[in-house]
Amino acid sequence: MMPRLIPEQGEVMEMLRRTGAFREGHFVYPSGQHTPHYFQMPLAFRYYDTARVLAVALSRKLRLLKEVSSALPKVSIISPSPGGIPVAFAVREALNAEQIYWAEREEGKRRFRQYVNSGEVHPSVIVDDLSRTGTALQETAGLVRQLGAQVIGCGVIVRFSSSPQQLEAPGGGDPVPVLSLVDFDAKWYDNGADCAECKQGAPEENVRF
Ligand SMILES: [Zn+2]
Repeated sequence: MMPRLIPEQGEVMEMLRRTGAFREGHFVYPSGQHTPHYFQMPLAFRYYDTARVLAVALSRKLRLLKEVSSALPKVSIISPSPGGIPVAFAVREALNAEQIYWAEREEGKRRFRQYVNSGEVHPSVIVDDLSRTGTALQETAGLVRQLGAQVIGCGVIVRFSSSPQQLEAPGGGDPVPVLSLVDFDAKWYDNGADCAECKQGAPEENVRF
């Protein structure tokens, strides 16, 4: 079978399931929340071939944005955290973009490393493996703008439906759409009392993050 240029959501989910990145069961977060599914995205990105297929698919969606295609190759690919670095490198390769940056959390605050300077950051595309709430993407967009660079695109492999479909631009600029390969309707319970898996007596797995 010829691979499609941009795989459908079902095919991407099958890839995530096969690699162990998408897991079904009964999971409990440190917050006490319960959920019947869990994403551990590095398990998909540990296989070079899978990483490449996912990144190429995402890059094809990003290329359809005129702002992105017309700025290449002078584009920065930006990850909100070290966890998104494999996605950033793979998307960079697929787009042939010039720069990669990633933010980190230090003392509870997201920031770029020291000496990442204003004026050196190209128009930016923010990428990540998974967006649960959109906070990381929005904070990163703010950091990019603080450095005087424009956010021209944003893409994630999996976007929870609780995460916004666009990044707001401060000061009245056009919002930037958050592109994704999968839109996932995540199921959450605030605690065990309402959890369907608890009611069935399914064994719990504690997840760290
Ligand atoms: Zn439960």
